[in-house]
Order: sequence, then C-alpha cells, then structure tokens
Amino acid sequence: MGMLALASLGSLHTASAEAGDVDNIRLWAAPDHSRLVFDLSSPVDAEVFQLDNPSRLVIDLTDAQLKDDPSSLNLSGSAINSVRTGVRDGTGLRVVLELNRPIEPRHFSLAPNDQYGDRLVVDLEYPGESAVDDPIDPIEKMIREQEIAAQRAKTEAVAEGRAPEEAAAATPVDPAKPHPKRDIIIAVDAGHGGEDPGATGPSGTREKDVVLQMADRLAKMINQTPGFKAVMIRDGDYYVGLRQRTLIAREQKADFFVSIHADAFSSPRPYGSSVFALSQSGATSETAKWLAATENRSDLIGGVDGNLSLDDKDQVLRGVLLDLTMTATLNDSLAIGGDMLERIGQVNHLHKSRVEQAGFVVLKSPDIPSLLVETGFISNPEEERNLRNGAYQERMMSAVLGGIRTHFERNPPPASLLAWQRDHGRSTASGEYRIQAGDTLSGIAQRHGVSLSQLRQANELASDSIRVGQVLRIPSS
Ligand SMILES: [Zn+2]
Repeated sequence: MGMLALASLGSLHTASAEAGDVDNIRLWAAPDHSRLVFDLSSPVDAEVFQLDNPSRLVIDLTDAQLKDDPSSLNLSGSAINSVRTGVRDGTGLRVVLELNRPIEPRHFSLAPNDQYGDRLVVDLEYPGESAVDDPIDPIEKMIREQEIAAQRAKTEAVAEGRAPEEAAAATPVDPAKPHPKRDIIIAVDAGHGGEDPGATGPSGTREKDVVLQMADRLAKMINQTPGFKAVMIRDGDYYVGLRQRTLIAREQKADFFVSIHADAFSSPRPYGSSVFALSQSGATSETAKWLAATENRSDLIGGVDGNLSLDDKDQVLRGVLLDLTMTATLNDSLAIGGDMLERIGQVNHLHKSRVEQAGFVVLKSPDIPSLLVETGFISNPEEERNLRNGAYQERMMSAVLGGIRTHFERNPPPASLLAWQRDHGRSTASGEYRIQAGDTLSGIAQRHGVSLSQLRQANELASDSIRVGQVLRIPSS
C-alpha cells in the first residue's frame, strides 16, 4: 500500500519545450522479462527499435540528457550484456543495449505519482517464456473445463445406464484407480516488487522486501508440512502484474492463494493485522475501499493498464455456473480467513476483528479461494520493527499457515493426501499426532474432537506450549 499525494494544481506553460533529463536508470530482471525504467525530469518522446548482428535494442530519446552513469547498472540475470549511450542529432540521447537473447520490446510512459516523477518504461519480453503459457481468460477457461467435465460425466452416466442427474453426484476420484494422494497447492504471493516498492516505513523499510521475506518463510513452512506444497508467485525483486499473479496460481493448479502485504497510513498511530477477501459488491468499509484502490494502483506503477475488472465480462459470462462457483469460492475464502484471523490474533493485535472484503484484483480468481493478509502497519514504528524481525515474521507466517491447515484438514480436496488420510483414519487411528508448524494445542483438541483439558491430561502437559515434531497422545473422546 502507498500514500496518496495531492496532484499539483494548475500547470506552467513554457514557450519552448525544455530538454528532459534522464536522472536515473533502473533495471529489474524477472523470469519472463527485463524492465528498464528511465526516471525523467519531464516527459520525453522515445523511439525504440531493434538491430541485428550483433543483436541490439536502440532507445532514442528526443531532447534528453543523461545525468546518470549506466555503467553502474547491475545487468546480471537480465537480457542485457552491455549499455552504451551517446548524443544523437545534437540534443537527443541514444541508448544502445547489447542483447544476449531474443526479446520483444514494449515501451510506455508513466506520469508522476507519489513515489516517482515522469518515467519511460522499456520492457524486454522473452518470447515463449511468459510465466503463463496459456493467456486465455481464466473465467472462460474455467467455464469451459466445467462444461467439458459435466458433459463427460453425463456421457459416462448414460453409458452405465444411470440417469444423467446422478452423474453430478459422482465423486471426482475413481475408486478403481489408486488414490492420487496429491499435495494441496498453496500459491504464496509477495505483494509489490521491482519498480513498485509498496509502502515505506518511517525507518525506510520497504513493504516489497519484508513481504518477500515473509512469503519465503511461509513457503518453506508449507513445504515442510506433509500433504502441502507451496508455489511462489514471485521469488525475487521484480514486479508481476496483478492479473498475472492469479494466472500463475491457476497455471500451478493452486488450491488456495494468499497475498502477503504490509499496511500503511498517513499517521504513525494505526496498528494491527487484517485479512481481506474479495467483495462481490462493494467494500465492507470505506477503509477497505481506499485500501483496495491503493493496492490495485500497483499495476499503474508497474505500467499495466487496461481492463483488470471482471465487471466488463459480466455481459458474456453472467451465468448460474459462475455465480455458484464464485459464491462457493468466496465462502471458502471467508472460512479460511476466519481461521487465519484467530491464529493471527495470537501473534499481533487485530486491526479489524472480522475478515474484511474489498475489490482487490489479486483476489479475483473465480475458483481459487484467495485472501490478502495485511500483516501489520509498516507506518507504525513498533510494527515496522516487528515486520523486519525474523522471529516475528516466523510467528506471523506460522499463524497464516495454521489458518490454511485448519481449513484444509476439515475440507480436504477429494484427490488430496489429507482426504485419503481422513478416509483411512490415518490422522487419529494410531491415537497419536505429530505436531506440525502452525499447530496450537486448542486447534489439535478441536480437530480430534476432544477437550483441551483431556488433551493436556493425556499428555501430562503443564502448559499449552508445544513444539514442532512433538508427538501427542490423542485420548478417545
Ligand atoms: Zn501492499
């Protein structure tokens, strides 16, 4: 999240166009593109074209002077081998990038915002290496998949002499085949990144850095939990478009999507954590509305414009199927969010005690339950310190994982290992339970249908503190 700045009122008219200075050049290397950003003192016209033998990209800026030394750019991992600059036509600036791989250039200008002035953005996209192979609209794809599945079930039912309606009740896991015991996939999204730092704390802590650290920790904990697997939406300091984030989750067949953020406000006072789900019709509070607007503004900083809203698709896609799916998805999101808030409340103050709802673009997957966690206020000095602290990050992410696990242990997807364990009584049959990251004693008691005091007694526990790997005896209730 970032702060809103007041737009300057009025504008100055100069008789002649002033030359724009290139004050600074920034570079980010993402898996599927490299992004160059020219920080400008005023807007300039640019022409971008490619040359062969050797492969080069030429960026011509009309009436511009270079005030930065491009030799200080860290080119490692990017598509660029070297950068040369020169004066062109007396007043123009030419930047020549020597390339080490095929690229497709794309460039656009960005108007000043509260963090940066005028910018020219040049993206070097790698053909065929998009993070998402299938650029098809996720909703259309989902509807198509569901229609195909429904049609297949109907055909099979008819072939087996059952009424087609029975097909709907058929379980997705064929009992004749071995159970797939698949992992539950959790997409972990570190907010912001690259050219979009997110919010900045009073001591200079950047949201994009602390949320990546926390996302890393969460992914590690998930991968240590049997039956779960993490997928990182970004694993470095680069920007991923908001819609792209949900597409990557879908591509990786995620069962759940969680976006990690840190909140900010114009005063240092507000504190606490909050959890957000998508709202179908308007944000639950004015704050939520404002926050959604600022988080979604990321894509303006990142340079992605165009239609990010699902609303414009409604004409084509409004249907019972979509409504049902989204409602079910949202209900799941709210349920997981409730479990998560309960755990987070044991780590930090809650800014809002209920799951808030707002129109965050990253939460708009029609069939993947999705939550956005504002882990704390980076604008509050004490919470800024906490958000930088490794032990605190670990506790916060453990709470997030706890909420996810509680939900999926209660409602495992049919093909998952957890479903198989539940159906074969594996989690309790032996009368023992091995403690995993994110567990609480009360949570374990609840899941096994015993009281907290029974559980304490059976294990002769003096306190409720437990450690990962510890094995508890589960008393028969
Ligand atoms: Zn944020």
